Amino acid sequence: MISHSKPTIKKEEIEAVSNVLRQGFISQGPLVRQFEEKFCKFMASHYAQATNSGTSALHLALLALKIKPADEIIIPSFVCTAVLNAVNYLRAIPKLVDINAHDFNINPESVENNISSRTKAIIVPHMFGEAADMTALLKFRIPIIEDCALSPGATFKNKKVGSFGLISIFSFYATKMMSTAEGGMVVTHDRAIYSFIADLTDYDNKQVYRVRYNYKMNELAAAMGIEQLKKLKSFILHRQKIAAMYNNGLADLGIKLPSSNNDKAHTYFRYIIRIPEKADVLITKLNQVSIEAKKPIFKPLHNYLGLKDQDYPVTSQVYKTALSLPIYPSLTDRQVKFIITKVRQVLKS
Ligand SMILES: *Cc1c(COP(=O)(O)O)cnc(C)c1O
Repeated sequence: MISHSKPTIKKEEIEAVSNVLRQGFISQGPLVRQFEEKFCKFMASHYAQATNSGTSALHLALLALKIKPADEIIIPSFVCTAVLNAVNYLRAIPKLVDINAHDFNINPESVENNISSRTKAIIVPHMFGEAADMTALLKFRIPIIEDCALSPGATFKNKKVGSFGLISIFSFYATKMMSTAEGGMVVTHDRAIYSFIADLTDYDNKQVYRVRYNYKMNELAAAMGIEQLKKLKSFILHRQKIAAMYNNGLADLGIKLPSSNNDKAHTYFRYIIRIPEKADVLITKLNQVSIEAKKPIFKPLHNYLGLKDQDYPVTSQVYKTALSLPIYPSLTDRQVKFIITKVRQVLKS
């Protein structure tokens, strides 16, 4: 079976994690601090707080914005439920908005139509390795949490995603662009926000009690993260090379391939094609020849919440027609060629 996604773990990660195990200090410690420093440098940001997941990073970001029950948070419908969960942790109201068909990112016009006097933040996920339109979104002058879980290293107008918003979060879940098995990061330029988040992440050794969390990253994860961050650039180049092979191999089939945009460097967390009528058939047929293809997200959020497809026309259309092909650094050229051949066979039959 050719897996849909896969972490890239080599001897450097194994060695780094083994060293931590041998030396025996496994909870939060110097490697976590080192990973945070290196991540700050990578993001050219002032502060970074490592966490045990992207979800806890999002939760902390919303807590730092002092979100209260009944505050409204704008999020796209076409994203995983982690984003919705973080909003619900605070009993805030998720205002779901539609996306663009060309990049699967939050649609600025739809955002504008959903802004009210209660809107306290917009969570902007940069979907599948391609930046959202930050120029349009920043114009609303509402605090933005950039969700870079899928897109570390992607750029918008030559600036890295995660450097536009008030707070940015990352995920290092097993199959994300870079991995610590489970893990996350919050990044900000704002000192007060950082101090608040750093305090809430760790409950121990505090003079004054308040509700805090145990959202700390551990040394094993940090050791792995430090190695993965060194390789992120090469991971991205490798993914871009595979995407170029797909682009060439599938160009003449009359299906929608990923858009290219000079303002953005696409890091291809996913390679998504759109095929009216045939996406589900293609997924089934590829699975039958041992290629794991999938829908890019499990289910749109508006479907979970019982909202109407008509109110989310683009999300609904994309959900029906989009399909994600295997792409990750350890996918071989031979496997890519095999996948291209099989996609061509199915679509021409
Ligand atoms: C994966 C993901 C998250 C959650 O990250 P975890 O580390 O799995 O908690 C949040 N937002 C987006 C867009 C994601 O893809």
